[in-house]
Amino acid sequence: MSILIKNVNVLTQNSRREILRDVDILTEGNRIEKIGKNVRERAEFKIDGRGKLAVPGLVNTHTHIAMTLFRGYADDAVFWEAWPKRVWPREAKLKADDVYWGSLLGCLEMIKSGTTCFADMYFFMDETAGAVKESGIRANLSYGMIDSGDVKKGKKELGVGERFVKDHSNTADGRIQCSFGPHAPYTCSKELLQKTAELAEKYGIPVQIHMSETRKEVFDSIKQHGKRPAEYLESIGFLSERIIAAHCVWLTKRETKILGERGVKVSYNPVSNMKLASGGVAPIPEMMESNVCITFGTDGAVSNNSLNLIETMKVGALLQKAHRWDAEILNAQQALDFATINGARALRTDAGSIEVGKLADVVLLDLKSPNLVPSHNLVSNFVYSANPSNVSDVVINGKLVMERSRILTVDEDKVLEKAEKVAFDLMGR
Ligand SMILES: [Zn+2]
Repeated sequence: MSILIKNVNVLTQNSRREILRDVDILTEGNRIEKIGKNVRERAEFKIDGRGKLAVPGLVNTHTHIAMTLFRGYADDAVFWEAWPKRVWPREAKLKADDVYWGSLLGCLEMIKSGTTCFADMYFFMDETAGAVKESGIRANLSYGMIDSGDVKKGKKELGVGERFVKDHSNTADGRIQCSFGPHAPYTCSKELLQKTAELAEKYGIPVQIHMSETRKEVFDSIKQHGKRPAEYLESIGFLSERIIAAHCVWLTKRETKILGERGVKVSYNPVSNMKLASGGVAPIPEMMESNVCITFGTDGAVSNNSLNLIETMKVGALLQKAHRWDAEILNAQQALDFATINGARALRTDAGSIEVGKLADVVLLDLKSPNLVPSHNLVSNFVYSANPSNVSDVVINGKLVMERSRILTVDEDKVLEKAEKVAFDLMGR
């Protein structure tokens, strides 16, 4: 398929962070073929880009997509009281079909809010892969492994994780890639973590893990290992450039240096951290000082409650400003970098910017919207003013997935109806 977007403004996110006005973008197959004035080539699809802004599709580096089914089900409550009572018993009763519809619901929500690629860790992941395939979005998926210190169970979990990697890597025209997903240092044995790091090296893929989300887990780590989580993972040889560590709220400066030295990627989840009252604020300035590649995640919908990465960019920047009493500490351009090029780098996806030769993951926003006028600063407008209703068209892997706010790949009404039904059914089990 080829697509020609005519007369559009572009936030390129190239190395010079160029903003182009009134240019054409031509995609051929799954790549961006040409960007410039008066592109004359014919294309199968033509989009009138006048009054629109093209941005690279956003990359959400941490979620548990099927948890959309739990949206609004454990709100405004203490995490360690509400989750064991409300979320975990229901999660244990999840069926494959529930995960499929919950995942499709999440895919729709992400596409409609300008996200074209996400990283996921959960179970029944074959179903999530099916939803990704059908919806047209791009994803890096992992089976979430937990052995609670039981080495025998760890071997079994790793078997499931490896099977998933073998079955799904590079499927759906390359839109689905895989990773390993050891849940956290406190739910996985040392053996499982070390073996995972080895296998990730063998397959050349990322590893997703939760790290230092709460103060309790830091205290427990010190009690159990005599080390803080990042120091412990460093000591067992786990940390590398393949690791995507979600949350990283409770880090010392020494730990941020370790992450930087090892090339670890961090998924900053400000909305989830605030909503669950994790207490701290991720030390983003110190991580930037240590050259850590920082990206954005929403976390699952039970702890956010949306999968809206536009909102996450804004909240992520504002939280740092408020916390440090410093309006310059994290600016809109940096937040946009986290959500685009850094996210793509973490997931090893050749996207994250609108440049010739890159994967054609392009989102169009309608600039003729009250919240986006005037256009003094298009980066600020996107990060601080935009919302999902401004997203009009979405191209992923060179295919038109949404046109004029209408999803083309799946029947949206049916997905909403089925997701509502399975969610209610699940809560009654
Ligand atoms: Zn998570």
